[in-house]
Amino acid sequence: MEYGLLTFREPDNDLTRKIIHVDMDAFYASVEERDRPELNGKPVVIAHHPRKTGGRGVVTTANYEARKFGIHSAMSSQEAFERCPHAIFISPRMDYYKQVSAQIRSVFHRYTDLIEPLSLDEAYLDVTQNKQNIPSATIIARRIQQEVWKEVHLTCSAGVSYNKFLAKIASDYQKPAGLTVITPPEAQNFLMELPIKKFYGVGTKTAERLKQLGIETGQDLFELSAKFLIDEFGKMGYVLYRKVRGIDNQPVSNERERKSIGKEHTFNPFLVREEQVEESLTVLADEVSKSLARHKMHGRVVVLKIRYDDFETMTRQKSFVEFTSSKEDILLKALSLWEEHGAMNKEVRLLGITLTQLAPQFFTNMQLPLWDTNNFY
Ligand SMILES: [Mg+2]
Repeated sequence: MEYGLLTFREPDNDLTRKIIHVDMDAFYASVEERDRPELNGKPVVIAHHPRKTGGRGVVTTANYEARKFGIHSAMSSQEAFERCPHAIFISPRMDYYKQVSAQIRSVFHRYTDLIEPLSLDEAYLDVTQNKQNIPSATIIARRIQQEVWKEVHLTCSAGVSYNKFLAKIASDYQKPAGLTVITPPEAQNFLMELPIKKFYGVGTKTAERLKQLGIETGQDLFELSAKFLIDEFGKMGYVLYRKVRGIDNQPVSNERERKSIGKEHTFNPFLVREEQVEESLTVLADEVSKSLARHKMHGRVVVLKIRYDDFETMTRQKSFVEFTSSKEDILLKALSLWEEHGAMNKEVRLLGITLTQLAPQFFTNMQLPLWDTNNFY
């Protein structure tokens, strides 16, 4: 296929892998329901009650009962409240959900260590080779569902296929507690019938443009040429061209390429004085520095994130000449970013410090500027 100066070869499609995508069903809400049986059958929304936050805040999870009222995650909690005033609002307990997530992950580890978590409630598993030498990924997926239910009393949905894209689509196909398998011969038909909004990774802008073009299903997408898709959507167009053909050779990687290390704190009540901001930045700098040490990394760019009470959010950054992981360096940069860009005429809801352009610390003595840190790993 010719495209400008580039020639694309039809990409190879790796059909030999066995990938499972596990997705907990309404995770945070299910944890709360499990612990509080009196919630059974009631609409549960995991969010601070909008009355307590003056109408601010968003829904992190809605249980299936609440979804019947059109409530979904990322909706403002005010809107959720308007849709269902008798819904039970529960403030999220993130540390607790993390513990439960770790319990679930320990079940995965009985089968494989090749686990790529996407969030606390979702992960890809590559079970092509697995610790129990089970040839069927479907059997492994079923066992995981059963063991998670038996040990953690939560349901999950699983998708099984030969790549991550299809496994994720499969896990979403029947929820809750579903198990969907897409085998290589089935993939093409499955994708043809899929509504375009289910093509995972399609951003809102792309989705909007596809809609304008009258592309509603996989079939519509399939009929577009690679050239057309690339002209319209650039690199994303080529990704779509491949995906609708069931091609996605991305590996399941447990060593997520760490591009940044950061910490952020949300404050309740909000910060109203400079000293509070300085104090918080000191704590954050310390946490980031410790985290860098744990990962044996250092970085060259400090990013300060500020979110005000009205949700206006800004991020500003400053570079170092040399790599650093020291608390003092990070704090100084963060403070000077605050002085330049921060303002106390609004209350501060959230502060975050992140270090980017990371490199492993053991390269400290090498001539680092010669390295292209982006191609480091
Ligand atoms: Mg989920």
